[in-house]
Amino acid sequence: TAKRNGKNRVCFYDDSLSSMPIDRLRMETELCKAIATEQLVLYYQPRLELASGKIICLEALVRWNHPVQGIIPPAEFIPLAEETGLIVELGNWVLRSACEQKKRWQEAGIIGAQIAVNISPVQFQDLSFADNVKQIIEQSELVPDFLELEITESSIMHDMDKTVAILERLSAIGISISIDDFGIGYSSLNYLKHFPIQCLKIDRSFVKNIHNDQSDLAITHAIINLGHSLNLQIVAEGVEEVSQLEILKETKCTTIQGYLLSPPISADELEALFLSDRLVC
Ligand code: C2E
Ligand code: MG
Ligand code: MG
Ligand code: MG
Repeated sequence: TAKRNGKNRVCFYDDSLSSMPIDRLRMETELCKAIATEQLVLYYQPRLELASGKIICLEALVRWNHPVQGIIPPAEFIPLAEETGLIVELGNWVLRSACEQKKRWQEAGIIGAQIAVNISPVQFQDLSFADNVKQIIEQSELVPDFLELEITESSIMHDMDKTVAILERLSAIGISISIDDFGIGYSSLNYLKHFPIQCLKIDRSFVKNIHNDQSDLAITHAIINLGHSLNLQIVAEGVEEVSQLEILKETKCTTIQGYLLSPPISADELEALFLSDRLVC
């Protein structure tokens, strides 16, 4: 690289290495600004209830609409937000924004589905997490039962007693809790009997091959049966093919999400689908 940079320049490091911390720092600063200046945007992915054919929930998924780079997916900035603590502010923005959207839909009388918001383990561990959630809902003047919080097993494992207390506070005001990416965590199943949860979301990695892998099918089926025994809603994530859908119907899965139905889309696009009756709730 030294040569490429011209003969008078001395370059000891590979560009890609030396520029890494600077990029990180720049990105951190930019992300901080992005939260404040409304560069973040929520997309929504519908969750279909198989028995009724209705959309019962919309999962809010954040994107960063970067002025130069365009739409950046969450995998490229959520980890940084978690490392720097920005996730608390980002997470509050997501909650506020989902509430505002719900309010608009409610006032327009168009979309009655619940809204699911992803909660990072770092955000969940924050001491004021439950207070923040309550406060944001209060400010929105919405009845809290429209809201579902998707947490992962890693949120739960730190301090069981504390986690139960937080979840019970939230469910006491009508918020639902689902376990996202179920089946890929390292936790025991013990928590399922102590926690006020309503829904298991089967991780996409199991659903992916249910139509041609016996083990994935067996695991998915077992999770569905477990969910029924515990009286929970079961969501299959990442359903892309009709053959997967058929199996999920046979195995009595209750709800699905995935590209087969719709990828995450903007609020406007979603509204158009409901208004044209292509989706119903
Ligand atoms: P997740 O909560 O498990 O969300 C599902 C991810 O799978 C989404 O990716 C979605 O676009 C993708 N997906 C849905 N259907 C299909 C499908 O049929 N095939 C495939 N291949 N993928 C599908 P996305 O939006 O890029 O989000 C990735 C992850 O980022 C989420 O996983 C979640 O963990 C995190 N995330 C997204 N938004 C937020 C947020 O507001 N807050 C927090 N803390 N995390 C978020
Ligand atoms: Mg999720
Ligand atoms: Mg998931
Ligand atoms: Mg995930």
